[in-house]
Amino acid sequence: MGTILIKLEDIQKVFYTEEIETHALSNISLAIEKGEYVSISGPSGCGKSTLLSLLGLLDTASGGSYQLSGHNVSNISKKERAKIRNKEIGFIFQSFNLISDLDVEENVELPLTYREDLNKSQRQKMVRKALERVDMAHRLKHFPSQLSGGQQQRVAVARAIAGDPSIILADEPTGNLDSKNAEAVMQLLEQLHAEGATICMVTHDPRSAQRADRNIDILDGQIVSDKPSSSQIVAA
Ligand code: ADP
Ligand code: MG
Repeated sequence: MGTILIKLEDIQKVFYTEEIETHALSNISLAIEKGEYVSISGPSGCGKSTLLSLLGLLDTASGGSYQLSGHNVSNISKKERAKIRNKEIGFIFQSFNLISDLDVEENVELPLTYREDLNKSQRQKMVRKALERVDMAHRLKHFPSQLSGGQQQRVAVARAIAGDPSIILADEPTGNLDSKNAEAVMQLLEQLHAEGATICMVTHDPRSAQRADRNIDILDGQIVSDKPSSSQIVAA
């Protein structure tokens, strides 16, 4: 057994809107080891993005506990959550989520500007390195609207990895890409995994899921299946 990085116990998430109460997640218990590559699948509305938001400390659960690297992060302040998130977690979204009035360099730098441990020249070096990694260093001064979808997602990957996070959370990262650009993003994720990153990727695509080590299926806010991917079983 490796080191447990993420441990969820009996996580619940309820959204209250007007008179409606939505139980987005119920009884989620889950342990993810450092260095694992996990896929999360299930029908639209089953709670995948909610789970990723909780894992990424973008939101808090309604019940249950979350331990990250052995620390209980269930009840910490918003400020503490942001601090951990900015240092430890990189996000990649289906719709890229770049900021349209910031150029490429500024978009990638943005999460690093919240880090008190980095000065401007350190940040610039990290930004350049991340953009070289995704082959976008020649587009520093371009704005998102001047880039193709594939290029925007590569910039978003650079933004996610620039701070050298221990966890990468990807919510349908290839959902808006053609097959060639999707493959480029999948290969980047695989390289990051090979270098030791822990990755949780939400995907609709069974073939993408098979490229992870482990496949979790969610239905109606509950884990209904959690097993090694068949590629792992063949390899073993
Ligand atoms: P998925 O990503 O699997 O499509 P989500 O996690 O986005 O599903 O949503 C799970 C359920 O929670 C859905 O019923 C959705 O409508 C609801 N939900 C998600 N976010 C909110 C929110 N901020 N307020 C109210 N309901 C929400
Ligand atoms: Mg979603």
